[in-house]
Order: sequence, then C-alpha cells, then structure tokens
Amino acid sequence: MSDPVPAADEVVVQVQSCGLNHLDLWVEAGGLPVPVQLPRIPGGEIAGRIVEVGSEVEPWKLGDEVAVQSNVFCGKCEFCSSGRESLCLAGQLLGVQRDGGFAEKVAVPARVLTRLPMGVDFDTSAALTLAGSTAMHMLTNRAQVRTGDWVLVIAGASGVGSAAIQIAKQLGARVISTGSTDAKRALAGHLGAEFTVDSKSPTWPADVRKITGRRGVDLVIEHVGGDVFEKCFECLARGGTIVTCGATAGREIQFNLWPFFVKEHRLIGSYGRNSADFQATLDWAAAGKLKPVIDSVFPLDQTPEAYAKLRSRNVLGKVLIEPFEPVSESD
Ligand SMILES: [Zn+2]
Repeated sequence: MSDPVPAADEVVVQVQSCGLNHLDLWVEAGGLPVPVQLPRIPGGEIAGRIVEVGSEVEPWKLGDEVAVQSNVFCGKCEFCSSGRESLCLAGQLLGVQRDGGFAEKVAVPARVLTRLPMGVDFDTSAALTLAGSTAMHMLTNRAQVRTGDWVLVIAGASGVGSAAIQIAKQLGARVISTGSTDAKRALAGHLGAEFTVDSKSPTWPADVRKITGRRGVDLVIEHVGGDVFEKCFECLARGGTIVTCGATAGREIQFNLWPFFVKEHRLIGSYGRNSADFQATLDWAAAGKLKPVIDSVFPLDQTPEAYAKLRSRNVLGKVLIEPFEPVSESD
C-alpha cells in the first residue's frame, strides 16, 4: 500500500503505537451500524510523530510528538463550535470511516492533534487516549461525581473500566468494580476499587447492594450493554445515574419504566469525547493521576494475534500495536 498524502489541512503521522479496541473487532466482523468502505485500515488510538505537513497546516512541524483524537470532528458545525465535538454532525471515526493507525503512516486533519505532554510516551498515549478519554467524558462531562459517592465501574480491567476506576477515585468516589476473573478483580483493586464483585456470579447486583448497606450506588459506568446493562438498574440507589457508552454484549435491552421513574433514576448516553476530555486525559497522565494498564504489545505484522488476544477477553488492560520501522522505499 502506498504512503498517505496529506490534504492541505492534514498531517502525516508516523505511527509509533496504536491501541486496539472493541471497535476494531466490530469493524473486522462487519458488526457496526455504520457503513464501512473497503479497503480500510483500522486502529483509532494513535500516537506518533509528524513526518509531513499539509500546505495550510500550522503551527505543527516535522518531528512533533502527538496523540490523535479518534472521533475526527469537523470543527465547524453547531456542536463543534461549542466544544461538544462528541456530537459533531460530520464526525468520522478513525479506523472506521477513514484510515486508522494499524499502519506505519496515517494522514489525519491537524485539528484532531494534541501535543504529547512531557513525560507521556507513545505507549501511554496509545493505551489511554481512546478508552481513557471515553471514561473522562463519562465521569466529568456526562455525569458528575461528588466526594463520597458510590461509583460502580463495570469490567474494571478493560480499557474504559481501568481508566474509570482511577478517575472516579481521584474525584473522591468510593469505587466498586466488577470483574470476571481473580486477576481482573485484583487489577481493579490495585487501580483503586475499594470492593470488587464477580460478574460471573448471578448474584453480583445483590453483592453490590450489600457492599453499600443495601442502599445502592450513585453512579454506574457501563460500557458492556445487554444483560449486564439491565442488571445495572438493580445496583442503583434512589436518584442514581447510569452512564453508558457501549454495547459489546448486546444493543437491545429490556427496560422496566416503573422503578425507573419511581426511584428517579437517570440514564445518560455517552459517545466518544470532546477535545477538552482528550486534553484532560493526557494532562492527568502527565500528572501521574491516570496510569495506563498495558496487557501486551504486538508488532504490526502480528496484528491478527493482537485481535485474537482481545477477542479472547483474556486481557488485563490494553493491547497495543507498534508498527515496524520502515525498512526501505521499495516496500
Ligand atoms: Zn462538527
């Protein structure tokens, strides 16, 4: 495949590290409710170095180390104009609707770049900027956390979950996390979850209620969908909120309206991130408040193995892909 050529408002980034996400598995399986034109290079969680700059791009220059926001926003629409890029009317998903980062080089609009702060390396960025900023958007934009709130993080060993535990903890919450194995629950505890419950146990929602003295939690960070989503309502305190950003376990759910309005529950959708969330994620990483959890790193030519690893669900944190250095012009 030939090298990408930047449009006037784009740069070419030499990819140093790119995180693998469930979104990439959906693209491979053809399971997204979004048309995907082929051929397509997946990979949305990119960190790298600028190696080419379009004619109208400033102030970026060659060699700058950057993270690339995966929801490529237009910068002009009603929502972008008010800093709500997650709602962009012309948004494109990197690696889905345009080529992504499982490649040596990728062309992206300069407006989606953020400079890597001092002390944040490429792998840290690639392990945090998609999933971590998703969690940042959920916990600091879509919902608010007050000191002492009970926050339940679903699947705390996942990319979104591992970041959500750390962010909720920093915001002063008491965190409970679900996990399907001892290792996943141990990781959640290490990241700051005060209690963990076994998501394979049919009684896990009751276990959550028991931990909170039967009261239930104030906030659930949900990103799994299906049956798990339905059970989250059983974990909620009166006045509690569920924020959800994913549906890997199923997009259609049963919903009982009676307890929903009687207990004044809230259900909030969350999609991607705003540029402010993206910047905050990198700033928190630079300040040591948000640490990446990296399960494994694969070279580009072992991308299928990386996909298999994530698909197995036997992962603790993020799977990253690091492209080979380019070897010759003739490739
Ligand atoms: Zn827009």
